[in-house]
Amino acid sequence: MKTVNIAIDGPAGAGKSSIAKKVSAELGYIYVDTGALYRAVALYLTENETADADIPEALKNADISLRFVDGEQRVYLGNRDVSGLIRTPAISMAASRTSAIPAVREYLFETQKKIARENNVIMDGRDIGTVVLPDADVKIFLTASAEERANRRFRELSEKPDCPAYQEILDDIIKRDYNDMHRETAPLKQADDAVLFDTTSMNLEESSEKLTELIRSKLNGG
Ligand code: C5P
Repeated sequence: MKTVNIAIDGPAGAGKSSIAKKVSAELGYIYVDTGALYRAVALYLTENETADADIPEALKNADISLRFVDGEQRVYLGNRDVSGLIRTPAISMAASRTSAIPAVREYLFETQKKIARENNVIMDGRDIGTVVLPDADVKIFLTASAEERANRRFRELSEKPDCPAYQEILDDIIKRDYNDMHRETAPLKQADDAVLFDTTSMNLEESSEKLTELIRSKLNGG
């Protein structure tokens, strides 16, 4: 039976994962955060101190997989759950760099396709609607201004002892946006048939409700 595939793309920190998690719980679909796969590759390459020229060969031994426990995604390197380890600023930057390498994208392509073939999914990333699932049933391009994204991240981190300065967070976001939009392979861009969804002036609740409504209406032919 054909599965339902919803693609959500957009820049870093736009709220894709928080919103997509809520929407997928509402719709009963699996939520797939493809950024975690790119982060796991970056962690693997960093731990092995792999030089760029050796990446295609090194990936042959990388055993990266997603597992879903009670509907929640965990990412594994071999049998090691690295879901927490991949969430550092250093790995964010490393993933932003290594995700531009075609061998890395090719390596993860089939993993993503297979999950979407076998499950009803909301899959979020940068190239889901354009490259991974060009025939997705609904495509969303979810964004917010860079300043608002930095604000949200700053608020999230402000409780932590080593919280970076606002300006540093904003600079990181701008740099990652630039990297994602200007790489040659699968750059971040809105698919022609994607709906633009801007969350700059919406909170998480509002965004999730509106997006659920929008997806339901699209699935019903709206
Ligand atoms: O979404 P997240 O910020 O966790 O993704 C980490 C990095 O992985 C991004 O900066 C982006 O460069 C890359 N990525 C990608 N394609 C995807 C998902 C993430 O290039 N589909």
